Amino acid sequence: MAFLVSDPLYLEHQAAGHVECPDRLLVILEHLKKSGLLAKCEPLAARDASVDEIALVHGRDYIDSVRWMCERGGGWFDADTYLNEKSYAAAVRAVGGVLAAVEAVRDGRGRTAFCLVRPPGHHATPSRGMGFCLFNNVAVAARFLQRRVLIVDWDVHHGNGTQDIFFDDPEVWYLSTHRWPFYPGTGREDERGAGNIMNIPIPEDVARPAFLSMLKEGVERAGREFQPEFVLISCGFDAYARDPIGGLGLEPEDYRVMTDIVRSLGAPVVSALEGGYSLEGLGPCAEQHLRGLLA
Ligand SMILES: [Zn+2]
Repeated sequence: MAFLVSDPLYLEHQAAGHVECPDRLLVILEHLKKSGLLAKCEPLAARDASVDEIALVHGRDYIDSVRWMCERGGGWFDADTYLNEKSYAAAVRAVGGVLAAVEAVRDGRGRTAFCLVRPPGHHATPSRGMGFCLFNNVAVAARFLQRRVLIVDWDVHHGNGTQDIFFDDPEVWYLSTHRWPFYPGTGREDERGAGNIMNIPIPEDVARPAFLSMLKEGVERAGREFQPEFVLISCGFDAYARDPIGGLGLEPEDYRVMTDIVRSLGAPVVSALEGGYSLEGLGPCAEQHLRGLLA
């Protein structure tokens, strides 16, 4: 059994023609239904995060500015990052969806959960939305848990926002595999924080087995040195070989292996969607990931 979190509000954050689009969730849900996996999951209702919960990682001025922009119909934080009139509500519920999952798993109602949330979060810094991200869903959940949390971020982009938030906070470890050099430009190996940041920059032409063994080595080291009580996955599927804006040569079945690597730590796992933009690849990649969460 794995919990599955989603919510219709996640579909209402949108901008015409933008690659970070509601269809991303729809193709995943449709594929999971067709493959029979949806029936093996227990649906878990998302909730709204409170402002105090979002303020565990974001400044209140920033939270207010997101709400304010949406109340006025939306706008753009940068060339990539849009808000419409529903984005604040969707982002509050995206954080809350991951919180609902960590509450359920923390309380022993299950061992794993997959949160199909939008907008994504890992580029959002304490004071700024960027890279399609408004609030850092996974970072809020990590602070909320108040235990030894390892965040594994296998999105093809480095999660600069998550790194910023935990750079001086050894209570949370952050392990990221990401294409290098690439957007957003952070994630060098020597960015180590308080010893709790493990960046694994990866060349674009990496072979799949080499990628998997780098991830495995990193996860095993985090397991040995940190002994996490809880694992959160910043689950981007944009390292998939045919992703239109990312790509790192991965095939859907690699996401099963990656999930197994993380689960070998033995800790409960809550995974939250970050990037992934191939409408034909998202479903098969999510299926393989969920098979690992269900195992
Ligand atoms: Zn990404």
